[in-house]
Amino acid sequence: MSEQQNTQIEENKKSLNFIEQIVENDLREGKNNGKIQTRFPPEPNGYLHIGHAKAICIDFGIAQKYGGVCNLRFDDTNPVKEDVEYVDSIMEDIKWLGYEWENVFYASDYFQQLWDFAVQLIKDDKAYIDEQSAEEIAKQKGTPTTPGTNSPYRNRPVEESLSLFEKMNTGEIPEGKMVLRAKIDMASSNMHFRDPIIYRVLHIAHHRTGTTWKAYPMYDFAHGQSDYFEGVTHSLCTLEFVVHRPLYDWFIDELATDDYRPHQYEFNKLQFTYTLLSKRNLRAMVEEGIVSGWDDPRMPTISGLRRRGYTPNSIRILMDRIGYTKFDGINDIELFEFSIREDLNKCATRVSGVIDPIKLVLTNYPEGQTEVMQAVNNPEDETAGSREVAFSRELWIERDDFMEDAPKKYFRLTPGNEVRLKNAYIVKCTGCEKDENGNVTTVYAEYDPQTRSGMPEADRKVKGTIHWVSVPHSIDAEVRLYDRLFLVEDPKGDKDKDFRELLNPDSLIVKTGCKVEAYLKDAKPFDNFQFQRIGYFNVDKDSTDKQLIFNRTVSLKDSWKKQC
Ligand code: ATP
Ligand code: MG
Repeated sequence: MSEQQNTQIEENKKSLNFIEQIVENDLREGKNNGKIQTRFPPEPNGYLHIGHAKAICIDFGIAQKYGGVCNLRFDDTNPVKEDVEYVDSIMEDIKWLGYEWENVFYASDYFQQLWDFAVQLIKDDKAYIDEQSAEEIAKQKGTPTTPGTNSPYRNRPVEESLSLFEKMNTGEIPEGKMVLRAKIDMASSNMHFRDPIIYRVLHIAHHRTGTTWKAYPMYDFAHGQSDYFEGVTHSLCTLEFVVHRPLYDWFIDELATDDYRPHQYEFNKLQFTYTLLSKRNLRAMVEEGIVSGWDDPRMPTISGLRRRGYTPNSIRILMDRIGYTKFDGINDIELFEFSIREDLNKCATRVSGVIDPIKLVLTNYPEGQTEVMQAVNNPEDETAGSREVAFSRELWIERDDFMEDAPKKYFRLTPGNEVRLKNAYIVKCTGCEKDENGNVTTVYAEYDPQTRSGMPEADRKVKGTIHWVSVPHSIDAEVRLYDRLFLVEDPKGDKDKDFRELLNPDSLIVKTGCKVEAYLKDAKPFDNFQFQRIGYFNVDKDSTDKQLIFNRTVSLKDSWKKQC
């Protein structure tokens, strides 16, 4: 054990998850001479989502914590859906989450080694070319309780298989006409041992190897071997791979020329309520225009969450909270919303933004006068300081902060009632003006000059405080109010309904003509703010100097609980 590893274990006071326990145990036993190596192995066939972040946090986290190495390996064995765009986005997302890989590898770098290994298996009479169709092969698989049937090609001569395998790669064999299968056991209780397909023909250019290869290895024939080639010690993946593990070990035992073995360990997949996480569904949403792209702020992709205003810290904290277990389950999305609120509460500057503005005129305030008020940037962080905010006779307030006929417990503006204008004066509502349809156009009030900070009645208490933006000092903004994409807790739980039938029609509401304080004119895309009393917002990447655009990251309180 190295000194760093020792210190880490000593310092580790909180309880370990089961993966950390395994790693610490291996270190204590001196396995692999104390070497810890992990990998994050995405297939570059889509953008990363929050589920992948869970894998990233443990793969990179274990290496970081125990002085090991984590590599990024693109599992690019299926050229059909893979693309360089995805490779680039995956790298960007991992870096944004705050992790660094030691090396970048590609499973396609091992195509030659995998080919040679397949040839070795054929020569050892442990693999054969099957010329049956996929349907015929599937029919012969048997069931978990009944054995499968041997393929009529199972005992063909080694030389024949060798020569056909060559042909699978020259382009002579059409797709689907031939596969290479490992010869293991058609009666095994593990279905994955029933002569699994290890190579198939695909006449598609690969994003890195071009048209060099026509025969491509299957995932199970590439993953464990890639781990072995690289020297991975702990190969972490999700629970659906438990049943693949014996095959993972079988291939490595056939391949290994020494005692070293990578080991696969499985943890529970991340699933959230009101969320779909599979890349297949996410891609469909992008291609069908249900969302504006992979980085639509409603998407559970890392790029969508980044654009929505989620912070890397909130995601890492979340993964820590949820933990790693051996049991699948669905986590409440509110846990994620809680994590982002908690993080932004500590770091987001409090500003004034009025989403649905109505004008408030202070009739006893001198026309043309402007005062400068002090606003605390973040009450949770003294070092954040304060800023100056202009105040004048005409202010924008939220439409629902005024009611002409208010119920008893309405503590905002209603004729005869007093409220405090945040960071400024107490004002008393005197009435309103309406248009011909009866809609309120202007609210009137009188301010009390003694109630500003530093004045004799500064501490006078009133029941309500509302936010405001000075009309001549305000800037227009567009505000995009995002909500959950799905109306039901488990969008994939209802087998009779397609996810398209379960979409929330109000997942995006665009508000134009919103008013925000002048301070925000220099805000840059991805900057986070708290619009006081409303929620957390960030600047969208579509925002320009001429048109500020804000995304609602999350409201201040959970509004869904109330509806249920
Ligand atoms: P999807 O099914 O969403 O397309 P995938 O598993 O096919 O995901 P990969 O690119 O193959 O995507 O996954 C890379 C790594 O991320 C794998 O180790 C996989 O186990 C892990 N991973 C994928 N989805 C989740 C999830 N929801 N929770 C935790 N880990 C995940
Ligand atoms: Mg996959």
